[in-house]
Amino acid sequence: MNKLLLKCKVCGSYTLGPTCRKCGSSEVASPHPPKFSPDDRYLRYRLRERYSEKEPTNGVNG
Ligand SMILES: [Zn+2]
Repeated sequence: MNKLLLKCKVCGSYTLGPTCRKCGSSEVASPHPPKFSPDDRYLRYRLRERYSEKEPTNGVNG
């Protein structure tokens, strides 16, 4: 469960809370960048494309 793992920008140590437990700094950020931004306006279109290609085929051939 390292989902909420954050890294202190000041001392570089890892912490699970909103503040560094080593130096007490609140300058903590996720060491890994998110895969996509939650406010990505194109995400909706991308999802629509992904789901639209899922069409039911009955094998109408001949
Ligand atoms: Zn720190």
